[in-house]
Amino acid sequence: MADPAECTIKVMCRFRPLNSSEVTRGDRYIPKFQGEDTVVIGGKPYMFDRVFQSNTTQEQVYNACAQKIVKDVLEGYNGTIFAYGQTSSGKTHTMEGNLHDTDCMGIIPRIVQDIFNYIYSMDENLEFHIKVSRGVKLLNLSKTNLSVHEDKNRVPYVKGCTERFVCSPEEVMDTIDEGKSNRHVAVTNMNEHSSRSHSIFLINVKQENTQTEQKLSGKLYLVDLAGSEKVSKTGAEGAVLDEAKNINKSLSSLGNVISALAEGTAYIPYRDSKMTRILQDSLGGNCRTTIVICCSPSSFNEAETKSTLMFGQRAK
Ligand code: ADP
Ligand code: MG
Repeated sequence: MADPAECTIKVMCRFRPLNSSEVTRGDRYIPKFQGEDTVVIGGKPYMFDRVFQSNTTQEQVYNACAQKIVKDVLEGYNGTIFAYGQTSSGKTHTMEGNLHDTDCMGIIPRIVQDIFNYIYSMDENLEFHIKVSRGVKLLNLSKTNLSVHEDKNRVPYVKGCTERFVCSPEEVMDTIDEGKSNRHVAVTNMNEHSSRSHSIFLINVKQENTQTEQKLSGKLYLVDLAGSEKVSKTGAEGAVLDEAKNINKSLSSLGNVISALAEGTAYIPYRDSKMTRILQDSLGGNCRTTIVICCSPSSFNEAETKSTLMFGQRAK
């Protein structure tokens, strides 16, 4: 069993390499790393459970960020893994990566493989039901098309997302690919759509021992958050500005919930945003939560990187 005394919120920090346009512009590579858990920016040290330098592989990130949570979910715990950071900091690379390339696969496809490998290794008395939900995109949180409802047990769920039972890793990848092509349609008339919405992927694992009738159920939310950059920097106006404000508000509510959980405060403001309502039964308590703070190493993005690091520190 997982150790109940263990801290249930982990904050990891990942720096991507400089990209070619940053190199062309002559940006400086600003992070300085100390040991495995500290990064120094502008002389100030920031400490996390782990800090990943730019050359860290997808497999190393998975082993440190997700392997343990998957084990716990298979033992009946709930969990959430978030990627937080400004647009282009590596959130989608970390969560999804290249779904069809063994080396470049991100956290989600590796989790899916691990879960199915576990199932294939178990004896026949164990019956598994795996359900994935995709497309819970909380774009414009004031819209009603993906509204939060509560079922009769007051468990929040989102109306309008797709749910499906799956029998193999390939079926899960298909679900993700379909989600992407749906998103692509929307992008044609809404520029930068994906960076202005949260993308939530849910894996539900139910197992039953057909001899003892013992049941276990765990679920894991995998969240690729909307870009955290400040609205003022994007020069947005009108509806786009309102949407950006909504996103900033939902990210700050998430920050408030996580820091309240980290401090052990009695009151946790889950109800302040739709996203925290949805994640309520998979955040805090004896749930497993990992936040991967994604950062650009470029001097050009220093202010955003510091703000991202501060968000991560609030959870410690
Ligand atoms: P975000 O989802 O935060 O907007 P992306 O994950 O799309 O950012 O990353 C932006 C670009 O940088 C992509 O082309 C991605 O492949 C690349 N990238 C991100 N992180 C890494 C990394 N650790 N190593 C190599 N390339 C990366
Ligand atoms: Mg992205």
